[in-house]
Amino acid sequence: MTTPTIYNKQQLSKMIENKNPTVSFVKPKHTKSNKWDNYLQIFVNDCAQHFISCLKCHSILAWKPNDGTNVMEKHNKAFEVLIKTTRPLGSAAAIDDLIPDPTTISKEIDKIYNLCKERLMSYLTTINHFVFTQVNESYDGSFRI
Ligand SMILES: [Zn+2]
Repeated sequence: MTTPTIYNKQQLSKMIENKNPTVSFVKPKHTKSNKWDNYLQIFVNDCAQHFISCLKCHSILAWKPNDGTNVMEKHNKAFEVLIKTTRPLGSAAAIDDLIPDPTTISKEIDKIYNLCKERLMSYLTTINHFVFTQVNESYDGSFRI
């Protein structure tokens, strides 16, 4: 038996980036909530880490069993915030103008998710500028960071 090793977020993201074979993603057994549908817990050498990974944007989110689904709810809410914060910017920035059909919004969100990955979380503080730029550029297909 080896002593379980707990890694920090930086170490884990490096390991995942390098496709380290000791890293695995596992759905915790005790979870019943469908909030887990898009998330898996990160394991290293079969040792549970204090992080989960979002399957949509591959963000690494700090998570402990006591946190329940709060972390996921917060992460999911990031997109509701994203849409709401674009509205007060005026017609030029309104998401409705950029995406005429509301049913396409979820598709756009998935696109944004893939493009931003975990950068989204760090950009949340400057969300107004960020969203406007992202939506604009991903919408006309010429996304750049
Ligand atoms: Zn995500």
